[in-house]
Amino acid sequence: MSPQERRLRSQLNKLLSRRGVIHGSLIRRRRVCGKPHCKCTRGELHEGLYLVVTEQSVPRQLYVPKEWEQTVQQWIDDYRKARKLMDDISRIGWDKVRNRQD
Ligand SMILES: [Zn+2]
Repeated sequence: MSPQERRLRSQLNKLLSRRGVIHGSLIRRRRVCGKPHCKCTRGELHEGLYLVVTEQSVPRQLYVPKEWEQTVQQWIDDYRKARKLMDDISRIGWDKVRNRQD
């Protein structure tokens, strides 16, 4: 294994050994809560954060409480980084097949 592949695999292992990864995105949405006399009935809408994950073209949304925002954002970022590392390692795999060396 080349030093480059070793380095990429070690970065990937580090990412995946954390507590989570998520293939999704965060969106901020404003909504009314349904309580009859709340300020949102007068146009001051509640702002909430939602995690959106799409599987087989079906999007699902999940409310994300404030105290989870950083964690969820971290997991989303880690997914992207892991995905990029996988692609880099995949390219090395291609070269191995092309050059007939495993
Ligand atoms: Zn309200």
